[in-house]
Amino acid sequence: MQQLRNYIKTFAMWELWQGLAVTFRNFFRPAVTILYPEEKTPQSVRFRGLHALRRYPNGEERCIACKLCEAVCPALAITIESDVSDDGTRRTTRYDIDLFKCIYCGFCEEACPVDAIVETRLHEYHMEAAGENIMTKDKLLSIGDKFDAMISADKAADAEYR
Ligand code: SF4
Ligand code: SF4
Repeated sequence: MQQLRNYIKTFAMWELWQGLAVTFRNFFRPAVTILYPEEKTPQSVRFRGLHALRRYPNGEERCIACKLCEAVCPALAITIESDVSDDGTRRTTRYDIDLFKCIYCGFCEEACPVDAIVETRLHEYHMEAAGENIMTKDKLLSIGDKFDAMISADKAADAEYR
């Protein structure tokens, strides 16, 4: 009897109609997917994406080469070398972040006493050539300069939550 029932189901394409019923039921429901990258999902102001080094409004580098970020980094992704600058302050002569090692934990940002190193909400980036995974000081500063308004707004919004 069961075998006969299976034969009938096979010839009637029962599973196909069941599948089409599911399709039809969901056809007029609102879509739960978005058309990325034209549409974006909401992002937290604490999103931990690409790093940046920030300056003060007068253009002075915030970083004082204390190396706390380097010490706290669990992935050993940060390499800092420092020296005394012409004005007698301690500055980095090298500040590299290896994005292949970084686990985007945010510890560097938390440890920084002067809000110099930050993780921005930028996440749409890629590398095409060997070595592009190393974010040098110049690259980090240029990201900080370019997106300073966004970083400052995110910092201010984050402070309201705390
Ligand atoms: S986000 Fe975490 S892993 Fe990446 S550089 Fe900062 S401390 Fe290191
Ligand atoms: S980025 Fe911040 S924590 Fe890292 S060396 Fe500079 S001042 Fe220190």
